[in-house]
Amino acid sequence: MKQTCTSHCTACNKHFHGDKAFDLHRRNFKCLEPEIAISERDNQLLVKWTEDGLCKMSNLPETEQNNVAIWRSAREATRDEQRQQRLIAVEGTAERTSRL
Ligand SMILES: [Zn+2]
Ligand SMILES: [Zn+2]
Repeated sequence: MKQTCTSHCTACNKHFHGDKAFDLHRRNFKCLEPEIAISERDNQLLVKWTEDGLCKMSNLPETEQNNVAIWRSAREATRDEQRQQRLIAVEGTAERTSRL
């Protein structure tokens, strides 16, 4: 299944996933390019989730809704990655136990 955007910006036609991602590209009621959305501590705020996403939220012509870049919060991405690694670690343990 294709990754889809959950927030769509009609002002700059960018696609976002997750609760926070959309807000992160807005500053002073203006859109930032996701690449340059940076926090006060110079942390990258948004990371590209996929370049091959599907937009179901805009009025764009169908040809422009496919293979779109979708952005997400860098913090959320890191958290998901860590969760994924924990899952893998747990599965590894379970496997070892069952072989005994
Ligand atoms: Zn925007
Ligand atoms: Zn979109």
